[in-house]
Amino acid sequence: RLTVDDLVAWMLRFDERISAEAEHLTELDSAIGDADHGTNIARGTGAVRRRLEEAPPGDAGAVLKSSGMALVSTVGGASGSLYGTLFLEMAKSVGPATELDAAVLAEAFRAGVAGVVARGRAEPGDKTMVDALQPAADTLSAATAEGHPLAESLRAAADAAALGRDATIPLVARKGRASYLGDRSAEHLDPGATSAAILVQSLADARS
Ligand code: ADP
Ligand code: MG
Ligand code: MG
Repeated sequence: RLTVDDLVAWMLRFDERISAEAEHLTELDSAIGDADHGTNIARGTGAVRRRLEEAPPGDAGAVLKSSGMALVSTVGGASGSLYGTLFLEMAKSVGPATELDAAVLAEAFRAGVAGVVARGRAEPGDKTMVDALQPAADTLSAATAEGHPLAESLRAAADAAALGRDATIPLVARKGRASYLGDRSAEHLDPGATSAAILVQSLADARS
């Protein structure tokens, strides 16, 4: 089970890892975008951390909603509304629960990723954050359905996200700014897939 405190720990861990990786993420975005992904996302996770510290939410849906709103209102850039959608859809899925069992979490994450896909219209293989998020959601659902312990399922999901991230290297971008480069977007790691893998790893860390 995942408690409200675990969800807060996820967000704090995400902020910690993003702050540490911000320079690298911006460097990745400078190769195929506009060199702001690390700055964008670190501004967002910092706002999430402050909001959770100032007004600790009482239930799971409130943690996710508060985080999503902070991201949408501070990030700017494609990634802000997409990550915001992920959390807001997860919030809707879990509602005012105070503990999430593995099946509820897996369904919420699946709904969140479906929201990202609906909003950005990127499919796996388009060289975006969806390349890390979709395999993570699929793996979490499958591992949960097989009855694996939550910590183990989350670790498997994090591994799937990392593989999806690495698989963006040879791809030609079909969505977002990187798509403006056409074939020249190939042979670069996608910045959004990299931050998305950090997001899933942070969730696994928060539960282990
Ligand atoms: P911007 O491109 O507006 O500067 P960021 O640099 O913060 O925004 O984020 C770029 C990342 O957003 C990309 O690396 C990609 O992973 C992701 N992204 C961009 N467009 C889409 C989309 N339509 N669907 C999913 N992810 C997207
Ligand atoms: Mg950018
Ligand atoms: Mg930008």
